[in-house]
Amino acid sequence: MIRCISCGEEYEDNEIIYTCKKCDSILEVECNVEGIPRDTFESRRQNIWKYKEFLPVNPENRISLDEGGTPFCKCEKIGKELGVDLYVKVEGSNPTGSFKDRGMSVGTTKAVDLGVNMVGCASTGNTSASLSAYAARAGLKCAVLLPAGKVALGKLAQAMFHGAKVFGVDGNFDDALKTITQLALDGELYLLNSINPFRLEGQKTIGMEIVDDLGWQSPDRIILPVGNAGNISAIWKGITEFRNAGYIKDVPMMTGIQAVNSAPIANAVKKGEETVVPVENPDTIATAIRIGAPVSAVKAMNAIKESNGTADTVTDEEILDAQKYLARTEGIGVEPASAASIAGLRKLVANGEIDKGERIVCVVTGHVLKDPNVAIDACEEPTQVSSDPKAIREVIRTM
Ligand SMILES: *Cc1c(COP(=O)(O)O)cnc(C)c1O
Ligand SMILES: [Zn+2]
Repeated sequence: MIRCISCGEEYEDNEIIYTCKKCDSILEVECNVEGIPRDTFESRRQNIWKYKEFLPVNPENRISLDEGGTPFCKCEKIGKELGVDLYVKVEGSNPTGSFKDRGMSVGTTKAVDLGVNMVGCASTGNTSASLSAYAARAGLKCAVLLPAGKVALGKLAQAMFHGAKVFGVDGNFDDALKTITQLALDGELYLLNSINPFRLEGQKTIGMEIVDDLGWQSPDRIILPVGNAGNISAIWKGITEFRNAGYIKDVPMMTGIQAVNSAPIANAVKKGEETVVPVENPDTIATAIRIGAPVSAVKAMNAIKESNGTADTVTDEEILDAQKYLARTEGIGVEPASAASIAGLRKLVANGEIDKGERIVCVVTGHVLKDPNVAIDACEEPTQVSSDPKAIREVIRTM
């Protein structure tokens, strides 16, 4: 069953629908799982289908690249420096290098189930990279709309290479999303942006894996970057479903981090307001969260409120600094948007919002190679030398 999150109107699972016909609000897939003991999952392979009872599609027909089951790294050094018990969930290790694969696996499985032949999305990059790959695997035609000139090189390469029809659209992500949504409503394609509630069903497995990774315990807090706000909503849904199933008792404080000039949700939270006012011309070096009008704002605000969480902003400088810090302290290479979670952690520790000793999971959402230009620009040029060992010896002895 699909249900409107605002008025509660219900729709059949096989209806192609993105917003409520009665009140225009966004939808979610209802998940009623009962009577499945926790140890059911024990000996299963580590991917999103480990929790297949909670996924509202037929697992026999899955379109899968073995997504999920990502590394869960304890970060002793950063944790010690900040006085917290820190873990990092490395979503860049998914098949196309971001958490979007979890959503696209379930989303394209649903597309095949519905019998559509064309899928599409608007994207800041990773959604298109992922959808292009999963559409190829499913044998579906795929169209993607990108804000022209604003997509990181690695993501663009992936979208093109897996065979999607790629359009560079005048305007920003929010404009591109409006356009592709119109095409979807006209029946031209099946939309796989995060307004599609089946995609979020795949992404909720991040929350499920985190509590499983911790031996069926909730962390005190989960921190993640927020753009269109689908992922924070999805993770919260996964966590609450596991709580409702009786697998865990406590829940984490959901903590969303946005870039300072693309921060409609953090702005609302800080002002104590319920409604999220879109930001007109969002801007940040973290292109994956360069979004002014988050589609899942209402869900995200609910998640933050219900979990007693919060949201905050970080500057581009803080993001780039955190990206390098994580790479050079813990060996984890992430794209700029992902580093917002670490930058946010640092800020919230510094201003006292985070208590000493909290058990925290930072979700790092995409791989460093997604945005090679940013990575290269952040580093010194290679030192040019002859092939003579002596020249190199002189340098490395000073290291
Ligand atoms: C999509 C994406 C985000 C933002 O997720 P939302 O669900 O849009 O809030 C953050 N980081 C990366 C790397 C992404 O690809
Ligand atoms: Zn409604």
